[in-house]
Amino acid sequence: MTDTATPPLEPKLLRDDILLHSAAGWTLAGSRCACGHISFPPVNTCPECLGDLIETVELPKTGTIFACTTVRMPAANFKPPYSIGYVDLSGGPRVFAHFQMGQEMLKIGAPVRLQVKPLWEEHGRPVVAYCFVGFDRAPDA
Ligand SMILES: [Zn+2]
Repeated sequence: MTDTATPPLEPKLLRDDILLHSAAGWTLAGSRCACGHISFPPVNTCPECLGDLIETVELPKTGTIFACTTVRMPAANFKPPYSIGYVDLSGGPRVFAHFQMGQEMLKIGAPVRLQVKPLWEEHGRPVVAYCFVGFDRAPDA
C-alpha cells in the first residue's frame, strides 16, 4: 500500500461513558439504582442510598430548561456568546447542558431535545458531545 493521503481525523467522543448509540440514535447514558434513583453522569455508587446495584439506562431525549444563562466570556472550546444551564429530562434527572438555540427560545420551562454532534475541535479532530436545542411543543390535545 502506498496511499500517502492523510485521512480526515475521525471524530472522538467527549467521554465514552455518557453517550449510548443504538438504531434509535444517540441518547445520554444514566445509572439507575435498585432504589430507583437515576444519576447522570453514570455512577458506580448511588448518591442517594450508597447502593451499588446499578444498571445503565438510556435517558429521555427531551426535557425542559430548569435554568439557563448566556456566557459572554471566552472559554476553551466555545466562542462567546454561548448558553449553558440545566435541563430537567422528561421523567429523568436534571443534567448540565450546553444550549444551541436562539435567545428568543432560551427560557426557563422551554421544551428542549437532545442533539449529539461535533461541538468543537481539538487539534483538528472533531469532538462529539451533547447539547440541547429548542423545539415547538406540540399543542395539548
Ligand atoms: Zn440508590
